[in-house]
Amino acid sequence: RSFNDYQLSEELRRALTVLKYDTPTEVQGEVIPKAMNHQDLIVKSQTGSGKTAAFAIPICEMVSWEEKKPQALILSPTRELAVQVREDITNIGRFKRIKALAVYGKEPFSKQKEELKQKTHVVVGTPGRVMDHIERETLALDEIKYLIIDEADEMLNMGFINDVESIIKQLPEDRITMVFSATLPKDVETLCHKYMKEPIHIEI
Ligand code: AMP
Repeated sequence: RSFNDYQLSEELRRALTVLKYDTPTEVQGEVIPKAMNHQDLIVKSQTGSGKTAAFAIPICEMVSWEEKKPQALILSPTRELAVQVREDITNIGRFKRIKALAVYGKEPFSKQKEELKQKTHVVVGTPGRVMDHIERETLALDEIKYLIIDEADEMLNMGFINDVESIIKQLPEDRITMVFSATLPKDVETLCHKYMKEPIHIEI
């Protein structure tokens, strides 16, 4: 496995060099080529496997820099994870000048609202706050082409699954969906079955 196999842009390859990501991890080797091939994916993998970069690399590669409205939405169960994922995306997309924003509860809504008026390629958020922004029309969904549900089993444990479903229902249907989870409880499988297009199962 080599990052050279994926036809990544010079900007992305440069960022991976700075981060000292020399070789793709196993989950990255499975996910990156399939995501770049526009396939829906259900990925069973643990934290520490390199799963964040597995979706961050193709997303940074595929989003268009020129577009002002958000093109990727990443749902995270916790603020801590949302902030971490936002940082990883910022690092991987730094030479492409990818703008990622984290939105979560316990931070003033108005601050996030102002930030969302600026060009934002990727929004990472907890389901409750993402719902607030959608309802108050401060988060535009019409250009969303990539949806990532990170730690889906945790989302279920924390009681966010209904919020996640309401969000999915409002997204454009013409999109790629990737679900990452350490385990695949029945409710997560049901949700995947309902909203994904012929998803490929990847188990690490
Ligand atoms: P994650 O599973 O996304 O929490 O990532 C676990 C750790 O692995 C993080 O500290 C990443 O920065 C690091 N990492 C991810 N991909 C690679 C890679 N290809 N080579 C080296 N380190 C990596």
